[in-house]
Amino acid sequence: MIDAATSGEATAVPADLPAFLDLENCYQCGKCTAGCPVAERMDVVPNQLVRLAQLGLVERARRAESIWQCVSCQTCSTRCPKSVDCAAVIDALRQLSFEKGDAAGSQRRTVLFQEAFLRNIRRNGRLNELELVGVFKTKAFLDDLSIPFLFKDAMLAPRMRAKGKLHFKPDRVKDGGVLERMFDRCLRQA
Ligand code: SF4
Ligand code: SF4
Repeated sequence: MIDAATSGEATAVPADLPAFLDLENCYQCGKCTAGCPVAERMDVVPNQLVRLAQLGLVERARRAESIWQCVSCQTCSTRCPKSVDCAAVIDALRQLSFEKGDAAGSQRRTVLFQEAFLRNIRRNGRLNELELVGVFKTKAFLDDLSIPFLFKDAMLAPRMRAKGKLHFKPDRVKDGGVLERMFDRCLRQA
């Protein structure tokens, strides 16, 4: 375990993390960890991940198992009295781990799913389940060539369709340009 009060001088956001993260505002109150539903199972808890990032110990942070246990519920970010987006820090660590090739197969799928989800929202403004599944499964297959994973859950499709949970036709928002601008602005900040 890492001591939450790891000593050392906090730096600006390390170069390999997005600059908008405002890490320097964290004063280690621990509210993020106290509200995290999976903190008890984590090897490095949320406030410790932020502290490691503050100190520039990004490699140590991105190798923590806990970044893959995070369920992105955003509770930590919502509770933070200093508006540190702890969930975004963990998200960035996952992305970095993916890009550096540290992540195992199932962990890589977490990032691939996230990418497919965002692409879907950017295109339609609303989630289109069929497109999401198609893009995600294709990306996952090209990544690890796992045929069992490609067809896993296929038998759920008829039941989902019958319950109105699987739409074939995308239901797009009227002004897609607004979304484009939102995504572009976010990407410029990253
Ligand atoms: S709640 Fe905010 S300020 Fe407190 S430890 Fe977590 S990230 Fe830091
Ligand atoms: S976003 Fe992740 S780290 Fe934050 S409270 Fe939820 S599970 Fe915990």
